Amino acid sequence: MLTVNAYGATSATDPLVPLTIERRDVGPRDVMIAIRYSGICHSDIHTVREEWGKITFPQVVGHEIVGEVIETGAEVTKHAVGDRVGVGCMVNSCRECDECLAGDEHMCANGNVGTYNSTDVDGTTTQGGYATHVVVDQDFVLAVPEAIPYDRAAPLLCAGITTYSPLARWGAGPGRKVAVVGLGGLGHMAVKIAVAMGAEVTTISRTDAKKADALSFGAARHVATNEDGALRALTRTFDLIINTISAPYDVNAYLRTLRPHGALVNVGLPPEPLALRVGSLIGGGKSFAGSNIGSIRETQAMLEFCAEHGIAPETELITADQINEAYDRTVAGDVRYRFVIDAATLA
Ligand SMILES: [Zn+2]
Ligand SMILES: [Zn+2]
Repeated sequence: MLTVNAYGATSATDPLVPLTIERRDVGPRDVMIAIRYSGICHSDIHTVREEWGKITFPQVVGHEIVGEVIETGAEVTKHAVGDRVGVGCMVNSCRECDECLAGDEHMCANGNVGTYNSTDVDGTTTQGGYATHVVVDQDFVLAVPEAIPYDRAAPLLCAGITTYSPLARWGAGPGRKVAVVGLGGLGHMAVKIAVAMGAEVTTISRTDAKKADALSFGAARHVATNEDGALRALTRTFDLIINTISAPYDVNAYLRTLRPHGALVNVGLPPEPLALRVGSLIGGGKSFAGSNIGSIRETQAMLEFCAEHGIAPETELITADQINEAYDRTVAGDVRYRFVIDAATLA
């Protein structure tokens, strides 16, 4: 076991504090990673505040991790000491179910092992990336191309794959009109990736506050829904809508903006059921769908795509003692567009 410095929660209500956690010994198929940067995902905050259910304390969250391999187990073939690598939302899966065998380990029938707050194969609770080191099975470690700036790569491991996967699956190529609803950590990556795929992208949010940013990310236009009739004016416009907002919204109004055969894909998670009129789907043969992260294989493809197209998240680098403030600012929507912790400040 290795005792490492971390920053974590001791209760659902107290601020996060410096603490230490144990990492398992490096097994034959494990790699030990010296973490360099760790992104702050809104899921981290929901988890430690127990907004998604009871958790085990102390809890170290973080599932947007990049760093350097410093030790490898005897059977490791995929990564070598010195490699720049990443870890996203999962660190293991059953490897036996139909989904795992098909390479869809994020949909594992037995539940994949989350990077934090999950029960690992050895029965311990996993602890995430706000730490100096992590030990992970080689199959769940991604290679992070050198072309992606080190301090900006981390958010790709969650925000990047969460948006890349539906854009790839539902097709965001040339000649396709894509709308991205919400311009936060997820939304701004959806814009950059869809533009790089060749789609014509429209960003939609409540106000014009992020219009200039949206256009700088390559969006063709920005629409503010606080203007009367804004959505109505978009009737039969889009082939694909990626909705990143986690609040209730008028699903029928958005479905109207789809062209026939279009799809509205949700990656945000509103807490309450939505009022979907089935007639909104039937007329134009439309689809209402959801998407959750992506497989390891697809995450690797996303990293290579971002390197090839020169795409990286917009980030604000913080020190460990700024994590609590960053949480409050993330909840308030006051971040452009992702906080990244400099893991050197945890040492
Ligand atoms: Zn996340
Ligand atoms: Zn499985």
